[in-house]
Amino acid sequence: MQDYKVKVVKFGGSSLAGADQFRKAAAIVRAEACRRYVVPSAPGKRFSSDDKVTDMLYKCYEEASQGKDITESFGKIESRYRDIVNDLGLDFSPEAEFAAIRSAIQHRAGRDFAASRGEYLNGKILAAYLGYDFIDAADVIFFREDGTFDSEKTNTVLGDALKKHPHAVIPGFYGSMPNDTIRTFSRGGSDITGSIVARAAEADLYENWTDVSGFLMADPRIVENPKVIEVITYRELRELSYMGATVLHEDAIFPVRFAGIPINIRNTNSPEDPGTMIVSSTTRTGSGAITGIAGKKGLSVISIEKDMMNAELGFGRKVLEVLEKQGISFEHLPSGIDTMSVVVATDAIKNKRDAILNEICAICEPESIQIEDGIALLAVVGRNMVNAKGTSAKALSAVARADINIRLIDQGSSELNIIIGVHEEDLSAAMRAIYAEFVK
Ligand code: ASP
Repeated sequence: MQDYKVKVVKFGGSSLAGADQFRKAAAIVRAEACRRYVVPSAPGKRFSSDDKVTDMLYKCYEEASQGKDITESFGKIESRYRDIVNDLGLDFSPEAEFAAIRSAIQHRAGRDFAASRGEYLNGKILAAYLGYDFIDAADVIFFREDGTFDSEKTNTVLGDALKKHPHAVIPGFYGSMPNDTIRTFSRGGSDITGSIVARAAEADLYENWTDVSGFLMADPRIVENPKVIEVITYRELRELSYMGATVLHEDAIFPVRFAGIPINIRNTNSPEDPGTMIVSSTTRTGSGAITGIAGKKGLSVISIEKDMMNAELGFGRKVLEVLEKQGISFEHLPSGIDTMSVVVATDAIKNKRDAILNEICAICEPESIQIEDGIALLAVVGRNMVNAKGTSAKALSAVARADINIRLIDQGSSELNIIIGVHEEDLSAAMRAIYAEFVK
């Protein structure tokens, strides 16, 4: 086993939703001395109809901005935390914090400030429970005037702070603006904080503790009992998350990837499971030719035909310029000799369809042009494809055997994935067919 010196451990909302979950998280932290820096989310759902504290805080903010009294709504948040503190038997009273936060939100402190208090309070409680120092993210995580994350300033200030605190809890999700107001990352942003802390701490590993035992090879709502991916590269992960497979916030990859720190996705409710290791590169081939499959619905294909298209200089550029002018980014561009297909999100072309068709007709003079909706894309992702012969043939014939019509195929020269377009209603069956073909 590798000898780790520093691990940064991030716990998601479901891992800290109530006192029992706090106990599990603390046992995990205490199990290894190298788990020195802990990044908590706000309490998530304890059961499926429960509310996340972050959502409750947004509600308080809305009520306050409509001039309503937030005592009742905020009271529900207070009792969530009070239950945790009392159940853990902590010698720590959050009452003064409650009063200050309630008053600030009532007096219309910013929306991000309100949302960030979920992590702030959870961080205070977790620090008291673990006996770790508390470092307020507002003092060590910085945004620029334009709202973008200031990675270099953060890395310097946070790095220095961590050196002074060998064991600390740093709440996730927020930081501060140059004028000292609070700003949050987008939803799920505690993953990003964990990654930032891992980089600043020069950690050997960033452990991200959640409620699943890692990334699954396919969507469990579609494929029965899919296998867990043991090792995945950042690039493969990017392909799968782009297609809709989510466990980790997409932006969480950048700080640790930059520093070459692997991420380990683990399950708080099943800590003995090894989870998924996300690495920059690996010589481990894994169990088979593919790493995972993901699918995405809600797409449209704009198909354009013109004789001798291949010889017409600038044809593709003109088509893409029309889309750019309309503010539409394209997802894929599978093309033939005299045909060009542009895959776009159906939502993105809403109310712009006529304008797109008319402009492309006027500028490019195609023989025919049409838009087909209801398309889904399926990505078969795998770093081993480059070396394996016949992977696409296998995937395509599995889909054909399932009697599914393939609408388009796209394989980049990097051979990290094969994209297969089918009608939306065929997506699940296609995914099952490919999974069964590759995972025995
Ligand atoms: N609590 C925030 C949210 O619900 C951030 C996070 O959990 O990562 O989005």
